[in-house]
Amino acid sequence: MKLAMIGFGQAGGKIVDKFLEYDERTGSGIVRSAVAVNTAKADLLGLERVPDENRVLIGQARVKGHGVGADNELGAEIAEEDIDEIQSVIDNIPVHEVDAFLIIAGLGGGTGSGGSPVLAKHLKRIYTEPVYGLGILPSSDEGGIYTLNAARSFQTFVREVDNLLVFDNDAWRKTGESMESGYAEINDEIVKRFGILFGAGEVTGDGEVAESVVDSSEIVNTLASGGVSTVGYAAEEVENSSDGGLLSRFKSDSTNDSMEAANTTNRITSLVRKAALGRLTLPCEIDGAERALLVLSGPPNELNRKGIERGRKWLEEQTGSMEVRGGDYPVSESAYVASVILLSGVHNVPRIKELQQVAIEAQENIDEIRQESEENLEQLVEDDEDELDPLF
Ligand code: GDP
Repeated sequence: MKLAMIGFGQAGGKIVDKFLEYDERTGSGIVRSAVAVNTAKADLLGLERVPDENRVLIGQARVKGHGVGADNELGAEIAEEDIDEIQSVIDNIPVHEVDAFLIIAGLGGGTGSGGSPVLAKHLKRIYTEPVYGLGILPSSDEGGIYTLNAARSFQTFVREVDNLLVFDNDAWRKTGESMESGYAEINDEIVKRFGILFGAGEVTGDGEVAESVVDSSEIVNTLASGGVSTVGYAAEEVENSSDGGLLSRFKSDSTNDSMEAANTTNRITSLVRKAALGRLTLPCEIDGAERALLVLSGPPNELNRKGIERGRKWLEEQTGSMEVRGGDYPVSESAYVASVILLSGVHNVPRIKELQQVAIEAQENIDEIRQESEENLEQLVEDDEDELDPLF
């Protein structure tokens, strides 16, 4: 599936950069165009792969290239004021060649948190291609303001996109690790999962597996449920015999063949379970997901229709959904069989409820502190008996 990726804010830009690296490394061809938008000049300069002409600095008149801090209301205002500047770069994207837009942002900060819902609304008004969001939730130790920003942005972003894919930093946080090295690992995880998912729709299948290769329309249909989505992943290393295929065929007899096929099927069904029941990008109950898509990637001889069909049936039972799609993503040179599961339209997400609760408390605290500080200032500035008059 070919995407026009737009990274909004620091996290968004860094992740788009990572997707470009992934594309270079694997040849997956998912990033048709890459754009980075920011109010902070330094963040744009720090990117490595997004082309210079696709880096858009907005809000120069307001914040002089220094960013908006964690003020997402200002982020949203600036995005609205400077939407033409963003559009003029998007005008250079060959939109007829992309299957969808993907706006990527950390929802806890200011620029991406406030700006990405504004951009989503704008793009949906102009283009017929679907507009998806990839929203990153802050880790719970980042503090109240980040949680409040994320909760408000999440609400708005879901409403403005065709589907919001969510990644929760909190679920992936490791204790005792620096923020930067932690993010590097997390970003690898994000790019791996979404790279396989979107890359699956880019394969023009040939040979034996052609009919079961995932098509980009299946990704679009799965995401068409709208709402919120999460992605599961599991992988197992395999001995890649693609180069020694002929030799191993000579060696094997029919009993070995059927045993190997059974092993392949079992491996696939077990990987499907692990992906669905293991750590999701947004942890949630999978029961009640409206639609699902199962992608099995790996060397073609390690993928079989029976395994995928079983995995698909199992997912149907677990989610209660009647719309579970499944297919292959053959990667001849891979040393892994990986299962990626997209669960779209999930509803039972305790983490979001918890985020909202903490956000409400933070908002109340902020209001209280603001009121107190106004009172304290008044007490300091005003003389007790009100004998002094200000100048004007
Ligand atoms: P902005 O530039 O104002 O949009 O804000 P940032 O993108 O710097 O930060 C917003 C949030 O994104 C932070 O609160 C973090 O939760 C998260 N974040 C920042 N950098 C990264 C990153 O490299 N990877 C991930 N996964 N999250 C990040």
